[in-house]
Amino acid sequence: MPRLRFPQHPPVRSRRAGVHRQLKAGRTLGGSTQQAQQSPVWLFDLDNTLHDTSHKIFREINLGMTAAVMESLELDEAAASELRTRYWRRYGATLLGLVRHHNVDPHAFLQRSHAFDVAPLVKAERGLREKLNRLPGRKVLFTNAPLHYARAVLKHLGILRCFDQLWGIEQMQFHGRFRPKPSVALMRYILAHEGIHPRRAVLVEDTVENLRSARKAGLRTVHVFHPGSPFGRGKSGRPNFVDLRVNCVGDLLLQKRPLQSA
Ligand SMILES: [Mg+2]
Repeated sequence: MPRLRFPQHPPVRSRRAGVHRQLKAGRTLGGSTQQAQQSPVWLFDLDNTLHDTSHKIFREINLGMTAAVMESLELDEAAASELRTRYWRRYGATLLGLVRHHNVDPHAFLQRSHAFDVAPLVKAERGLREKLNRLPGRKVLFTNAPLHYARAVLKHLGILRCFDQLWGIEQMQFHGRFRPKPSVALMRYILAHEGIHPRRAVLVEDTVENLRSARKAGLRTVHVFHPGSPFGRGKSGRPNFVDLRVNCVGDLLLQKRPLQSA
């Protein structure tokens, strides 16, 4: 199995002790402690990480979400669109606002908002299954999307069996509330549930805020830069809570310089 090494990369200033020190050039993702010498556990985001959502699917999701809000609350399109956006900004997910303020059935809403055929819309990098299979360590899907949609995308890409476990937004409920990404409590909850030591876990994501929370929970972080993602920062600069920056999943297998400029 290939050993994943961090690239020879210019050092980033002012890094604190701990994970950053273990991620200096040439060290494996496993780090130096006995715990971390085991294979990493990869937590993969779905949209704009494993496939290109901005290609066509985001449009379908936006249309579906607005339609679901219209039907759930009997609003016209403009009002539904405004409310959807407002709750998304306030809570990080429209669903949370609808459940909290309108007692909407979350499962019905998620089904309605993602009720489209993904097959003609999915676009991903070539050889994704082979790349994932070559990557040593367990893989867990960790998405704020509903499970039926996540499964459909993974199945269409032929990578469903690459994942040992799937976490969708339906499962991100504890203490009586939905707590999707970027909840730090959620990340701790999932690690505890899966029996994963934080030092072994690596979150692979396009959304910078989720990576920030992952670091707070003790995970290591890989930012998948996607030019179409509305949730990544500009191409310049790598935040100090991002350990590695890549352009695609295949870059995780590279031995040299998969990072963008920091
Ligand atoms: Mg994403």
